[in-house]
Amino acid sequence: MTTGFCFDERTLWHSTGEAALFLRPGGWVQPPAGGGAAENPETKRRFKNLLEVSGLWRKLAVESAEPATEAALRRIHPSRYLEAFKRLSDADGGILGEESPFGHGGYEIGALSAGLATHAMDRVLSGVWRNAYSLSRPPGHHCMPDHSMGFCLLANIPIAIEEMRARHQLGKVAVVDWDVHHGNGTQAIYWDRPDVLTISIHQNACYPVHLGTVAERGEGAGAGANFNIPLLPGGGHNSYLAAMDRIVLPALDRFRPDLIVVACGLDANGLDPLARMMAHSGTYRDMTARMMQAADRLCSGRLVMVHEGGYSEVMVPFCGHAIMETLSGEGTAVVDPLLDFLIAQQPPPEFDALEGQRLTEMARGFGL
Ligand code: ZN
Repeated sequence: MTTGFCFDERTLWHSTGEAALFLRPGGWVQPPAGGGAAENPETKRRFKNLLEVSGLWRKLAVESAEPATEAALRRIHPSRYLEAFKRLSDADGGILGEESPFGHGGYEIGALSAGLATHAMDRVLSGVWRNAYSLSRPPGHHCMPDHSMGFCLLANIPIAIEEMRARHQLGKVAVVDWDVHHGNGTQAIYWDRPDVLTISIHQNACYPVHLGTVAERGEGAGAGANFNIPLLPGGGHNSYLAAMDRIVLPALDRFRPDLIVVACGLDANGLDPLARMMAHSGTYRDMTARMMQAADRLCSGRLVMVHEGGYSEVMVPFCGHAIMETLSGEGTAVVDPLLDFLIAQQPPPEFDALEGQRLTEMARGFGL
């Protein structure tokens, strides 16, 4: 069966303005050459371009989608936020939260980004595609219902999940967020919901700095349905796979979801400018294989990945390409030229032992 890839060039025309990574120019910050914002189209465009150049593009079902509807957006976001967003977007753009600027027309592009995620889930739940990747931009996992955050303007994954509930008989959903930053928006939206399991693997105290601790487990009916796995800075391939094997997979097995969604940030690799982890394309390949095995075991293979962060123009394409090879089961001639370089720099065994100990304690704390 087919692997879908949801993409629309218009999402690459979303403007995040001029910044030095995420800092506004001014004061002591010199305006950067060429725009400079960390969240810019190039990482996404180069991921998509590598799929075309390798030939994998032709083996995927590539589709665009309609924007998410007003009704779909309103299930997650209050009207006052959406109206303020639309008003600024119709003018010259602006900012409605921290580190999340947008330009003219940003509202429509944001709705399209959520629409791509929605379409990917719809195709998989309808049985048309085996699994799917949505190259959504702007990303969504930091966005709160009433304000934007960290480049995220709309909560793409919750918008899509709730639209799927309206269209399909969808029961329980698990969201596994392996973006290197904490999935605070998704956590907040599903904080008291028992039907959506949220799991975030992230660099400890990276962004948002004060969130993403193991103590945040959800509340009320949702108590116990939120897991945070903060990894020490410098953790690499072994840390990520140990987190998957000791915590993520047992938690999924216990929850028994009807759909698995991955909030797929590609910023945990060793060259990302906004984090300090040491994963590589092989890590994403192996984590994807584990997610596919879990989906096969638990929910007839239903697996949808939605793009989040990832700011290395060199690494994001190779990490994304490895994921698409794995999801589709199609090999190509592409070799990641940085794989050996990053494997050679993996943390020493003592670090793995320390991180393994932490993960074992976390798993015990979670009752897994
Ligand atoms: Zn991120």
